[in-house]
Amino acid sequence: MRATLMYNAGDIRVETIPDARIVEPTDALLRVTRACICGSDLWPYNLMEPVERGRPMGHEAIGVVEAVGADVRTLKPGALVVMPFAYSDGTCVFCHEGVHTSCVNGGFFGSPEPGGAQAEAVRIPQADGTLVPLPVGPDDALMPSLLTLSDVMGTGHHAAVTARVGPGRAAAVIGDGAVGLCGVIAARRLGAEQIIILGRRPDRIALAKDFGATDVVSERGDEAVERVRDLTHGLGVHSVLECVGTDQAMGTAIGIARPGGAVGRVGVPHYETTDAWVTGFYSNVTISGGPAPVRAYLDELLPEVLEGRIEPGRVFDRVIGLDEVPAGYRAMNERESIKVMVKP
Ligand SMILES: [Zn+2]
Repeated sequence: MRATLMYNAGDIRVETIPDARIVEPTDALLRVTRACICGSDLWPYNLMEPVERGRPMGHEAIGVVEAVGADVRTLKPGALVVMPFAYSDGTCVFCHEGVHTSCVNGGFFGSPEPGGAQAEAVRIPQADGTLVPLPVGPDDALMPSLLTLSDVMGTGHHAAVTARVGPGRAAAVIGDGAVGLCGVIAARRLGAEQIIILGRRPDRIALAKDFGATDVVSERGDEAVERVRDLTHGLGVHSVLECVGTDQAMGTAIGIARPGGAVGRVGVPHYETTDAWVTGFYSNVTISGGPAPVRAYLDELLPEVLEGRIEPGRVFDRVIGLDEVPAGYRAMNERESIKVMVKP
């Protein structure tokens, strides 16, 4: 089968590798009908050290179940399903507590095992717990929005939940990538009264406003902190959705949170620590967040998409075939594209 492998920073290839197959009786085999490139894929695209055997890439997909192992109970071949970026059994203590990304039998796609989703097919461990059937056909017009439930919409929602967004509260979203834009959707959906987007690219700002952003801050660092304070009567916001993962973004997040507020961080951290920890201590700011338990949120968010109340699929601005994936990485890395969909 054809699959995407990364060998080094900037060295991404689509190659023929052995077919994905069922290994454990709890596995399913998924034929990928839609995949995409994630902002988090750009971290290794820029920083990865060279490897001999390429790393399989891709952790977001919708596909058709081709086959199931002997112990799979809830899925049948032919079912169209969405795949969260982490697999989970749905039965362990952490799954019951809603932290599916810490499942004791879980793990992440886009790794040597089980493989990546920027491919024609992928092995799905813990299929019963992981996959969620979709009540639509594989070419339904809702496909882009349904695909975001695999990661970015669930991740934006996690940022909003862990930042304790609620009715009447002021929220700020750091980052105008697909996750930040989905964070705006989530903040609005959870009732935030004011939603400040921190970003600077006109097409993304326009989309953020469509999704419900009430204010835009294009400055960075201390100037961004000043601007947000100006917009909140000098107080800061109750909730900060940190959707970048850099030292500067975290510093800004803590700087704009009001005393007693919360930061929900979902940008994969690429810093050891930040000077702002001290500021956050004195202002009693809660720092929360982490890898989103997308599986936990699917039950809540799927009806929102099916019934047309949210349209996170608007973050996709380019559709490519599998062989064009290297060009797709380039386009997202150069910020020519917000998010790229792949049709294998
Ligand atoms: Zn579990």
